[in-house]
Amino acid sequence: MRTPLVMGNWKLNGTKESVTTLIKGIEAAADAATNVEVAVCPPAIFIEQVANLVANNSIEFGAQDVSTNIEGAYTGETSPVMVKEFAAKYSLVGHSERRQYHNETDAVVAAKFVAIQKHGLIPVLCIGETLEERETNVTKTVVETQLKAVIDVAGIDAFENCVIAYEPVWAIGTGKVATSEQAQEVHAHIRSWLAEQSKVVADKVQILYGGSVKAASAKELFSQADIDGGLVGGAALVIEEFVGIINGAK
Ligand code: PEP
Repeated sequence: MRTPLVMGNWKLNGTKESVTTLIKGIEAAADAATNVEVAVCPPAIFIEQVANLVANNSIEFGAQDVSTNIEGAYTGETSPVMVKEFAAKYSLVGHSERRQYHNETDAVVAAKFVAIQKHGLIPVLCIGETLEERETNVTKTVVETQLKAVIDVAGIDAFENCVIAYEPVWAIGTGKVATSEQAQEVHAHIRSWLAEQSKVVADKVQILYGGSVKAASAKELFSQADIDGGLVGGAALVIEEFVGIINGAK
């Protein structure tokens, strides 16, 4: 049985005040949902504040991105070792906004995946097709290619200790949530494609759905056989929405 995981991706949002309000607002729901893992990915500058705020509750946290470099002349970067120092558990890698706005190729994503694991964090590997790719019926090929790029470098066994987030790009931040059937179809495909390489990995790996998840859509999405929770952007910034999404995974 895979534990459902509900993860908030706060993107470039927050103030010192709103970070505290948000964590205080969701902690009771996170603690009460004993069969659901809850995590947030704040901007790097708020990681220490979040680490302090979650010290006595069940919320986990991670980075939104890390460098492949550990230290040195890399202005503006955050290393996985720095993130780990604050007892973070996760780092996102390959989010479509990183691929799109920072030109992160599959090769860069694979190198980051390896660096994240090497330094004791769990990668949350984001994959998904654009609208054009969906409309030309290449969704399955796209997710396979994105996964293969990482497997070729990290090896299939590395996927025993990672999370996959299937996030159709056309659904991120657009309000257009994939239907539960559309999402389940791709999740099932990802799992069966992984099973061809390792049944252990396929059975174990949590595959999250991401793309305009709201409290109203969470329960139905998360009740699908191969959807193990969600990666949540906009709705993770609204206490009642995120609490509703946590409860939808119970
Ligand atoms: C995301 O940023 O990963 C995401 C899914 O965003 P949203 O929920 O806003 O679509």
